[in-house]
Amino acid sequence: MISFDLSPRIAEMKNAIRSLAEQAMRPIAREFDEKEHEEPHEFQNLMWSISGGRAFGSSDDAPNEGKSSGPREGNLGACVTIEELSWGDAGLYLSIPNAGLGGAAVMAAGTAAQKTRFLGRFAEGQPKWGAMAITETHCGSDSAAIQTTAVRDGDDWVLNGTKIYCTSGDRALRSGGFVVVWATVDRTAGRRGIKSFVVESGTPGIKVIKVEDKLGIRASDTAMIVLEDCRIPADNLLGVAEVHQSTEGFKAAMATFDATRPLVAASALGIGQAALDLARQELAQRGVEIRYDRCDAHLSAIERDFLDAEADLQAARLLTWRAGWMMDRGQRNNLEASMAKAKAGLAVTRVTQKCVEILGPIGYSRQLLLEKWMRDAKINDIFEGTQQINMLIVARRILGYSSKELS
Ligand SMILES: Cc1cc2nc3c(=O)[nH]c(=O)nc-3n(C[C@H](O)[C@H](O)[C@H](O)COP(=O)(O)OP(=O)(O)OC[C@H]3O[C@@H](n4cnc5c(N)ncnc54)[C@H](O)[C@@H]3O)c2cc1C
Repeated sequence: MISFDLSPRIAEMKNAIRSLAEQAMRPIAREFDEKEHEEPHEFQNLMWSISGGRAFGSSDDAPNEGKSSGPREGNLGACVTIEELSWGDAGLYLSIPNAGLGGAAVMAAGTAAQKTRFLGRFAEGQPKWGAMAITETHCGSDSAAIQTTAVRDGDDWVLNGTKIYCTSGDRALRSGGFVVVWATVDRTAGRRGIKSFVVESGTPGIKVIKVEDKLGIRASDTAMIVLEDCRIPADNLLGVAEVHQSTEGFKAAMATFDATRPLVAASALGIGQAALDLARQELAQRGVEIRYDRCDAHLSAIERDFLDAEADLQAARLLTWRAGWMMDRGQRNNLEASMAKAKAGLAVTRVTQKCVEILGPIGYSRQLLLEKWMRDAKINDIFEGTQQINMLIVARRILGYSSKELS
């Protein structure tokens, strides 16, 4: 039987996070948008003390409804929780200390020992961040074209190259966390040569040379990182080292996105929902109530636009929850994760722009957070696979084409 109800555990968590978002995020959202490179230390410490360094909502393998044998719901829980955090503020959500995308990469491609070694540190001490560095100046969508090299030297790997736009890269390297760096062990081997390596904070030869100024999610740090003869232990390579054997290493690294794309979609939902809630509230103050019991012909243009936007977001939410739900059941969700990400990224850009439009000049002014949410929205259409790339993945999976056949 299909049920769209959240379990009592997730529903309770959703309410708790909504209160946290209202009390700890909304009041400082404008401030840390304006002070782009300042750290929201108080907020970060608070979140670290609440989460104990774990990703919010994931609760690792929390079984459903407290039954030890029930289905897992950590991924669905994370989707719901991240929506609420991003309803509070998406930039601040991305500033919460945890292993982040780097942690997801370790989970997707690392051995049991590597998971304990690299993720164990997130259970103790000061706030820490993890990050993942794939993108280079000439390679974003086409991650198989990576130029950063990893050369084996005795018991070490030596990394050289430059990475751009690494979310939380600066914080990860300053905090005792780590950055998962994608590099090639053989530039002639294409995908088969791409491996992911954990570079721990404090390792000589890795440094941040720039933190970007951005349009949106300005509370989140986005770093340019240089690796110069950066030497790491051989065991910091995630997964298999054999180059010419297969594309398993690349596939394992790409599997990171099956877990994280639904989370990006969830963040998009939170921003879109915030915009809809605010637009509804402002319209109500002007005496405009959105009516749900009329057919199209009897609705005002504003009501129709609002209802269209709400339906768009709800469709994206169902795709997102499905992708997380499948992951919890150990089902391959590569197609659904890309569907959710593509749909939610597009929906949130449309919804936030529509809400700004519906409210007119006040929507565009800085009196409200709405203009900020319109700026924050766009990133969901860009990182972790752009809109176009996720649509390509969806098309390939549905039509049964390889990446060579449909690019
Ligand atoms: C704020 C921010 C944070 C980021 N965080 C991270 C991070 O933590 N780690 C990381 O590694 N990267 C990160 N990125 C980089 C991001 O993942 C890339 O920007 C993204 O993958 C796109 O790559 P690109 O910018 O090189 O664009 P390109 O790949 O050059 O694409 C440019 C345009 O062409 C389109 N396009 C490309 N190929 C195709 C195709 N085959 N068919 C149709 N259209 C195509 C794209 O959709 C896009 O619209 C971040 C970026 C930003 C802005």
